[in-house]
Amino acid sequence: MAQNYYQKEIETMPVEEIKKLQTEKLIKQVKHVYEDVPYYRDLMDKKGVKPEDVKGIEDLHKLPFLSKADLRDAYPYGLLGSPLKDCVRIHSTSGTTGKRVVAFYTQHDVDLWDDCCARAIVAAGGTNEDVCQVAYGYGLFTGGMGLHGGSHKVGCLTLPMSSGNTERQIQFMNDLSATIICCTPSYAAYIAESLKESGMTPDRIPLKAGIFGAEPWTEEMRRNIEKDLGIKAYDIYGLTETSGPGVAFECCEQTGMHINEDHFIAEIIDPDTGEVLPEGEKGELVFTALDKEAFPLLRYRTRDICVLSRKKCSCGRTLIKMAKPMGRTDDMLIIRGVNVFPSQIETVLLNEGYQPNYQIIVDRVKNNDTFDVNVEMNPDQFTDTVSGITSLEKQLANAMKLMLGINPAVHLVPPKSIARSEGKAVRVIDKRNLH
Ligand code: ADP
Ligand code: ZN
Repeated sequence: MAQNYYQKEIETMPVEEIKKLQTEKLIKQVKHVYEDVPYYRDLMDKKGVKPEDVKGIEDLHKLPFLSKADLRDAYPYGLLGSPLKDCVRIHSTSGTTGKRVVAFYTQHDVDLWDDCCARAIVAAGGTNEDVCQVAYGYGLFTGGMGLHGGSHKVGCLTLPMSSGNTERQIQFMNDLSATIICCTPSYAAYIAESLKESGMTPDRIPLKAGIFGAEPWTEEMRRNIEKDLGIKAYDIYGLTETSGPGVAFECCEQTGMHINEDHFIAEIIDPDTGEVLPEGEKGELVFTALDKEAFPLLRYRTRDICVLSRKKCSCGRTLIKMAKPMGRTDDMLIIRGVNVFPSQIETVLLNEGYQPNYQIIVDRVKNNDTFDVNVEMNPDQFTDTVSGITSLEKQLANAMKLMLGINPAVHLVPPKSIARSEGKAVRVIDKRNLH
């Protein structure tokens, strides 16, 4: 497929030029933050760094980190970089891992964010001839408004569905011939499941592409969604603190997401020591926003674990790529001393022919961790005998033990008995109260 770009000059800019651009913007941004954000100025003063010490991206490491704890500390206005009269919007995190944080936007911030999302839509093959169904939640969550803005910029006919009401999603998708759908991967899987049940086959669904993000998902899940909807499924990444989705997006190669480096500098650090790691090493992703006015975060620790690569991409983009995040540092469960990521369980389920409808329940009984995984049976297994089901449970538990090194208690539960999510899926229930 011939690759189109939304902002070709930037997306294919030689690396040296991107770095030069980043340097120019960083110097300005550090000055802006030091002057206008007292909270960060204090952090810089404590570290003994002055704006003049940052002469380019090679000095980035001198700056202090910002963490989610800082954002909560500074809630709500402490990190504001522009007068409130210049702000036009507020968004908030989904609160997956604790108290929400709020982010502010000037009109300029919204414009640049919309551009980032437009790049993602164009990279997924979108043009002004497409009908783009936005089924991310609208509201404080950034998913809906972000892709909505991007869709407008591309000139797609935008269907602002928000999430939920799956029957209506399917009806509008068909009646109005939606060609692109944007939502969380778990909601895409749910829509695919509902379509199947209604007897629709992929060839009768008008969609050609999906832009899915806001939560971790595996390659196996991608393949299932692509098969069931008859589409190409593209990943998109972002977080409220950096505006929202569109910080990075996937191209036709589908091997990681290009980071919009004209607006963000990405670093990978060792989450324990804070040391910057060389390209290609796995660690915590840190972002510095270069253009954001109202919420200008420098060296923000995302807690997402991933790897960066500048390997040449066949799409022609020169922007650095990030791998699919492997989960968050705080997503990782430590069960009986072993690190467990929900994505590992998902991989096993999909390999063994199950749907990614599962819930992990961890508890502590008499100082011992209990580890249960509820998994929905496939409809054809529902009629199996009790002993048949027990042996399927054992088989699945063994496969998980091989992947994780510890043994979960697997429980096959009836199809559709685990609550479906229209936004981010709730995969883990940790009852141990360890925090
Ligand atoms: P919350 O931290 O409350 O979930 P956000 O709604 O801002 O707040 O979500 C941002 C987080 O969502 C990211 O830090 C990351 O962990 C996750 N995320 C976003 N996009 C992706 C993606 N494509 N793949 C994996 N995780 C993602
Ligand atoms: Zn590419």
